[in-house]
Amino acid sequence: MGLRYAGARVISAASTWGLKHLFHRPAANFPGKVALYVDPQVIGDARGKLERGSVVVVGTNGKTTVTNLLADVLECAGMSVVCNRTGANLDSGIATSLLHAGHADWGVFESDELWLAKVLPQLQADYVVLLNLFRDQLDRCGEIDRIQDSIVGALASSPKSVLVYNADDPLCAYIAEQAAQAVGREHTPSIAFGVSASMGLAQNTVTDATMCQRCSTMFTYDFRQYGQLGEYICPSCGFSRPALEFAAENVELASDHVAFEVVRPSENNAGISLSAPFNGAYMVYNLLAVAVGAELLGCSGKAIQQAIDAFNPQNGRLETFDIAGRTVLLNLAKNPTGFNQNLKIVAQDDQPKVVAFFINDKEADGRDVSWLWDIDFEELADSGRMQVFAGGIRGKDMQVRLKYADIHADVVESAEDLLARMQKLPTSHNAYVIANYTSLPLVKAALEAAAADTSTAESAVELAASASDPSAAAGTVEPAAGGVEEPTDNPVVIAHLFPDLLNLYGDGGNVRVLEQRLRWRGIPVEVVRVQHGDTIDLAQVDLVMMGGSPDREQRLASADVVAMRDDLKDYVENDGPLLAICGSYQMLGHEWLLDGQTVEGLGLIDMTTRRPGTSADRLTNNIALSSPLAAHPVVGYENHAGRTYLGEGVEPFGQVTSSVGCGNNEQTHADGVRYKNLIGTYLHGPLLAKNPEIADHLLTEALKRHTRRSGIKHEPLAPLDDAAELSANAAMAAKLGA
Ligand code: GLN
Repeated sequence: MGLRYAGARVISAASTWGLKHLFHRPAANFPGKVALYVDPQVIGDARGKLERGSVVVVGTNGKTTVTNLLADVLECAGMSVVCNRTGANLDSGIATSLLHAGHADWGVFESDELWLAKVLPQLQADYVVLLNLFRDQLDRCGEIDRIQDSIVGALASSPKSVLVYNADDPLCAYIAEQAAQAVGREHTPSIAFGVSASMGLAQNTVTDATMCQRCSTMFTYDFRQYGQLGEYICPSCGFSRPALEFAAENVELASDHVAFEVVRPSENNAGISLSAPFNGAYMVYNLLAVAVGAELLGCSGKAIQQAIDAFNPQNGRLETFDIAGRTVLLNLAKNPTGFNQNLKIVAQDDQPKVVAFFINDKEADGRDVSWLWDIDFEELADSGRMQVFAGGIRGKDMQVRLKYADIHADVVESAEDLLARMQKLPTSHNAYVIANYTSLPLVKAALEAAAADTSTAESAVELAASASDPSAAAGTVEPAAGGVEEPTDNPVVIAHLFPDLLNLYGDGGNVRVLEQRLRWRGIPVEVVRVQHGDTIDLAQVDLVMMGGSPDREQRLASADVVAMRDDLKDYVENDGPLLAICGSYQMLGHEWLLDGQTVEGLGLIDMTTRRPGTSADRLTNNIALSSPLAAHPVVGYENHAGRTYLGEGVEPFGQVTSSVGCGNNEQTHADGVRYKNLIGTYLHGPLLAKNPEIADHLLTEALKRHTRRSGIKHEPLAPLDDAAELSANAAMAAKLGA
């Protein structure tokens, strides 16, 4: 044993003792952190404790569940396991679990995607299980390619590790291909798993990558499960879902269980039948990953089912509480894909219910909550009566998002506040609580305390008994506030250009905001979504919105946009209102630069976008501007690698007033551009949600154009109650010191 390792062990043991006995705190990270300080190779030095080897689980969603269940299966099969069960998934968490453990058969660890590059070179795991990659915390990760590159680099540092990956996710399949190339092999040391047939799920609006990363062409799908998962093929280069070595077949999705068979299509064996008392298609993928991992480590189907039967998640993942006779389901959701799957679980319950969302924006959550606008809350609005609450540091943002889905939510101060309000509602109403990363522990603690407290049970029973009309407290799904919509031949037309490519950070929410603000005023409106490859006659359009996008999608979309150059120029010169965010904004200029390559722009505005560094050199911040178009501060979120320089005399959209944030570039502290009725800006957020003045400015111009086009006269826009929007705006402006 090396001296450093010996020192690391002593110091971690001392700090564990101190944390437990003196500070009464869990010791999931700190002992490993100090140990790594003393011995940076401590994971490598300690891995000898693992007699048979180790498995690392990575992926955006499902890591903790898969890791814990896989460890359970191994234990059911009679093996001893070291595992970072609480989800402490940085190198310090993994080091801590290893240092705390004695000798064991296997190590099963979950790792943060970006930290795999630190963990794997030392651990040299036998298997890396890659579950999925969805957009998550892009303020920390930049664009998704960066996570992929980092995972490929990690695999290259551990060439014996076999990659066990979800082949239904093209982002994972591309990693498998890249990892093989990185170690100079024709065949990846990899094993593909997936779901063989469509699960028949309703599709959500925003998905991550549906583009081939080999050749930047849009995939065609035989079927899509959710997000980008499914059976895809690139019509150009043929990149497609690899043959499945393990497949889930005959999937059954019910409100109280999932069931399927795990088969090896290349073999003729019967396969294993599994069923689990959980709801949600994503559990099929989680359980499949567990089953594949367990089979590879030599466990029987019996051990897998046994572990599933005994699985009692106590970490806020699908955890159930009985609070005063009411069933409360708590689940974590931290990105749009996970959230959409959660909402499907809630929507399956068509009885009156309570739904609460807790959203924080701490470091570990990501400082930006634009992603709330990439979630289809609209689906929930159709799922019957419910009482909805919004909490957490960004509870107000949540409230605004729900408002535009026609769902009224009351803001709650805390989970205790939620519980107090819930007590007044009949206990027959199930409650669904969805919390993101750092808001989850506090909510969970409050629910646990309430579940343990029998006095609330008695008072709630009394209250429920005296509640005369169960529907009186519920039913707060709001109908459209505006007048009755008459079918008309002549609605105001909003064109959303290329939402399948240009759709970062909830930018599509801008269209939702515009549409609702017309609807609430009783003005007929039609939204036309122009997909990649389609065209539209802009002479029939009153407002154009284009969003931002990752580099690859932006590059492909720019060809569509440049093909419309003459029409767009006509539209803008004839006072057509246009909103272009970030990636689309960059395209308005003469040219933009991407990894040393110059890409032609629309040339509508005298401006150029350059990229001084790589995609990792980003300007990422919540940001506030003062703009002549708004009396309030304009708040939003920027995340871009390009820097934009305006020509002489070109007016910016606004001037940066927050202490952080850059806008166009580091030198001018101006953001965006204003020209006629065109607004270009780096602000996501989405921009219009918390800046209703800008929304109404664009709508006023859209109505004028509509009048010119159709002859229909419009009154000036009637004021709306913007209290929720302005309150969320004020909270962010105050936070930014603007
Ligand atoms: N890909 C572009 C950049 O990084 C635009 C990003 C965006 O739209 N957020 O500069």
